[in-house]
Amino acid sequence: MSEVIAVMNQKGGCGKTTTVVNTATSLAVMGKSVLVVDMDPQANATTSFGIDKTKIENTIYDAIIGDINVKKATIPTFIKNLFIIPSNISLSGAGMELSKRENYHIILKETLKDVVPLFDYIFIDLPPSLGVITVNALVASDSVLIPIQAEYYALEGVADLINTIKLVEKRLRSPTPIKGILLTLFDRRTRLSKDVYKELKNYFGGTDLLFKTIIPRNIRLAEAPSFGKPCLIYDPDSTGTKAYLKLAKEILKRDGEEL
Ligand code: ADP
Ligand code: MG
Repeated sequence: MSEVIAVMNQKGGCGKTTTVVNTATSLAVMGKSVLVVDMDPQANATTSFGIDKTKIENTIYDAIIGDINVKKATIPTFIKNLFIIPSNISLSGAGMELSKRENYHIILKETLKDVVPLFDYIFIDLPPSLGVITVNALVASDSVLIPIQAEYYALEGVADLINTIKLVEKRLRSPTPIKGILLTLFDRRTRLSKDVYKELKNYFGGTDLLFKTIIPRNIRLAEAPSFGKPCLIYDPDSTGTKAYLKLAKEILKRDGEEL
């Protein structure tokens, strides 16, 4: 069974791309076949795999717009079992173009349908906004993973995000359950980080939705993209690598896999 997971939070810098790149890599090295769909015109996920975004022939934009079949835009990364549909700046106009079309909200789902069955996990990386692209991602996904940064005002905007998810569920009859809430950029030396954790527990009523895995602030995670490598390749022994391997295991467990 394939599972499409949208990694979503309209806040920038909360670790969406880092989570997509490193969770996808962890699952791939564990033997799953994984696809990353880069839906951010900034293309940070694309460049994190060492792909030159100025030299890509086919992007997710070309597939969405209907110029090419999505299979043409699906390319291997240098990691076994891991593929990507890259993005570049052309995607920035896609929201406007899509909104003019009939049934604009199902276009991404329709676009991806030829590749989704080829993979165990499909991760969609999103820009920091709640627009047409986000609605498309919700409709195309089986679940949503929400990274939340351990800092002041961490929960600001989360209510808007959850409202958007509910609205899509109600209006489009397309429910997208929350896969999990992931605390990121956690610094265990600070009181603030612990306070945010407590706040999240309160807000989400217990710990069921919260992943047990917490992603620490780790410099290796921040450095890896500039070398065009996921952290697992850049520094396999780093705490960042270990944390994302743990998250991947937790996801497999949530999906009922015996480990
Ligand atoms: P988003 O995609 O939500 O905008 P990113 O994943 O790009 O967020 O992260 C924002 C910045 O923080 C990037 O420079 C990234 O390398 C860095 N970063 C993300 N997660 C961590 C972490 N756990 N530890 C250290 N730096 C991180
Ligand atoms: Mg990003």
